[in-house]
Amino acid sequence: MARSALAPAWLPYPESVSDAHHIDPVMWADGVERGGDGVVTVHGVSVAKLAEDYGTPLLVLDEDDFRARARAFRTAFNAAFDQLCGGVDVYYASKSLLTVDVARWAREEGLRVDTASGGELALALRGGVDPADIGLHGNNKSDAEIHRALEVGVGRIVVDSLDELNRVAELAGETGQQAPVMLRLTPGVHAHTHDYIATAHEDQKFGLSMATGRNGEDSPALEAVRFAAESASIEFLGLHCHIGSQIFEAAGFGAAAEKLLTFIAEIRNDAGIVVKELDLGGGHGIAYTPADTPRHPEEIAETLAALMRAVVDRLGIDCPRVSIEPGRAISGPPGFTLYTVGVTKTVQVDDDHSRRYVAVDGGMSDNPRPVLYDADYTAMLASRVSEASATLSRVVGKHCESGDIVVRDGYLPDDVGRGDLLAVPATGAYTHVMSSNYNMLPRPAIVAVSHSGPRLIIRRESEADLFAREVGLADVPASTPTTTDNGGS
Ligand SMILES: *Cc1c(COP(=O)(O)O)cnc(C)c1O
Repeated sequence: MARSALAPAWLPYPESVSDAHHIDPVMWADGVERGGDGVVTVHGVSVAKLAEDYGTPLLVLDEDDFRARARAFRTAFNAAFDQLCGGVDVYYASKSLLTVDVARWAREEGLRVDTASGGELALALRGGVDPADIGLHGNNKSDAEIHRALEVGVGRIVVDSLDELNRVAELAGETGQQAPVMLRLTPGVHAHTHDYIATAHEDQKFGLSMATGRNGEDSPALEAVRFAAESASIEFLGLHCHIGSQIFEAAGFGAAAEKLLTFIAEIRNDAGIVVKELDLGGGHGIAYTPADTPRHPEEIAETLAALMRAVVDRLGIDCPRVSIEPGRAISGPPGFTLYTVGVTKTVQVDDDHSRRYVAVDGGMSDNPRPVLYDADYTAMLASRVSEASATLSRVVGKHCESGDIVVRDGYLPDDVGRGDLLAVPATGAYTHVMSSNYNMLPRPAIVAVSHSGPRLIIRRESEADLFAREVGLADVPASTPTTTDNGGS
């Protein structure tokens, strides 16, 4: 066997058995290794043991790695921005992965928490996060969500439109409160991987446009700033932007910061309005495959601080206090998903090429990203080492969709088969939080593994959970025995 012509250019062909079983630290959590017996371990606990105790599919989180990544952002950004603006507040974007334990880890590592709905807000509060350390996002917050945020006293409400600004002022006014408000602007900078593009106009649902009207009318951003600064019911904190995800270079963040700092200088000079805070959002990239080349937070922080220092010096303004909102860069790499292999088959694609399909016991219900975004992942044989030659394989799920792909392209040993465990790295973010019960599959458990051992933090759903909202069930006699145990593989 050799490289397949069907393989994408970025996919490295494993030249040796050790290549094929290599734990690449860029994609895997720090606590993951391959033990002497060839079985993958997390802090010394074998995945075979985890699968036996908790079943598969299983989301495994290296708690120490999560904490280390959270700390790295806080330390690196505070060091780089200390002189410029007195430090940085790091808001963990909880939409990427949120459980009460995860909220606690973020809090214990000195992070604040971003939420994007009443549900996320409620869970962060249950996780013990100080309301003053919580931000509430969302382009269409309900009155109930705004009320709750005001009632518990969140540190900031990130307002997305003029319409919402009015509503927040109204609701805060009714209770005689001052709502702490950041305004989300669209700076016309869209960053993706190694490049960013700049556009004057925005055609998207998020944020307040910074572009002036066709007849020279004030931009919605300027209108909102004026309103926020004048309203007795609003404590105007500052400006926010979020320019995309999977950003690997500081330049995109720098371009957005420059656009906002220039605006900040203008409103100070023209209207005497002081902006105290500037939030540059999240989107820090991670390695889903070896083709991705994320930078250490230190490098992003230092480059960005230098860019911003030059801009504030040129504009002659004080730099507002900076905040950032990393999500996947903290929660993605600590996680991997463990699946058990079931059916395998080889499909002849054309006269010269075949592809091996390896079906696992989960799929688009536990990780919808491949279906939603054509996202690439990698998979590795985790329960043993194989000498068999590498075959181009497609790891698929068990759902009734041909698009139900877990790993579109990967080389797996030819003899991978029923009962083997496959591990897919970098699945901590946007999997659990986006999971569904499609095809009535119970959602997987999450086990957190730290240096002190494994701990179940989300149990696997049972058949009873699947039926829990069936109002009609009370009227149906239980003629067939139901099991509540879906924990096995
Ligand atoms: C999604 C989101 C984030 C986090 O994005 P990541 O790519 O996970 O870092 C941060 N801020 C806002 C406003 C977001 O919508």
